[in-house]
Amino acid sequence: MSLFADPRPLFQKALAERYAMGAFNISNMEMIQAIVEGAESLGSPVFLQVSFGAKKYAGLDYLVALAEVAQKNTSVPVVLHLDHGANFDVCKQCIDAGFSSVMIDGSALSYPENVALTQEVVAYAHKYNVAVEAELGQLKGVEDDVSSEESYFTDPHQALDFVQKTGCDSLAISIGTSHGAYKFSGESSLDFTRLKEIKDLIDYWNKVPFPLVLHGSSSVPKEWVSLAEKYGAQLGNARGVSEDLLSKASKLGIAKINIDTDLRLAFTGTLRQFLRENPPIFDPRKYLGESKKNMKIMVEHKIKLFGSQNKG
Ligand SMILES: [Zn+2]
Repeated sequence: MSLFADPRPLFQKALAERYAMGAFNISNMEMIQAIVEGAESLGSPVFLQVSFGAKKYAGLDYLVALAEVAQKNTSVPVVLHLDHGANFDVCKQCIDAGFSSVMIDGSALSYPENVALTQEVVAYAHKYNVAVEAELGQLKGVEDDVSSEESYFTDPHQALDFVQKTGCDSLAISIGTSHGAYKFSGESSLDFTRLKEIKDLIDYWNKVPFPLVLHGSSSVPKEWVSLAEKYGAQLGNARGVSEDLLSKASKLGIAKINIDTDLRLAFTGTLRQFLRENPPIFDPRKYLGESKKNMKIMVEHKIKLFGSQNKG
């Protein structure tokens, strides 16, 4: 039995009340504190998610232990989620370690292989009452070990067939977002017609609203890019998804929105500024404390944008 929140009832409430929950990537104590303190201050449920890269960096046992302390010290629901599980073994490892949610990402496989792999993970996860997110369609960009040159959008009829065959609890779809800080060369756009088709088809069959997930949804805010660049970062033409589009998606059946890049930007921009402006300071608590403060502000900003404040 996981100590963390089961995302399924949280999804149902989010879909009924038309908001989305932020899923934020973690790789150290400061990030976990910033995210959970931000969620706590606004009374919002929150996902802490662990990528393969984070697991490699910090070690799974460290991240689980830190997240457990965070959940024990807050009144809001915290979901501990595996981001982009690449195979059955890593999903099993996280389920056994106490996660309440895992993602199996078979989106790079052939359709039948993706179905088979997802079925295998769902069978194991559901035995332990752990929820499973799967993915259909492909996002462009780079995220830790996940990278793709090409993107293809999720086919609505295939999405229905996939959910029917696999029994997954939520589905990450591709409708125009992409991983990383360099998402668009021009204006960002999302395929809302496709989102509606996917949602209508699955909901009609499922009888209750089915949660859809957006990956690669950082907005790469100009003011944060400028701050980081003012203090030496070189980010070129980094560009993300417009916040208006995300706010709209959060009311149309997207129940979970993944954010990693924007937290990194807030953390790194602040760190660069602080170190440049305070040359005598070499106490890590001072500069990490500043970064944490601004990362928390970024988390609160996302929670308000997605509409999940006072829903915890
Ligand atoms: Zn992703």
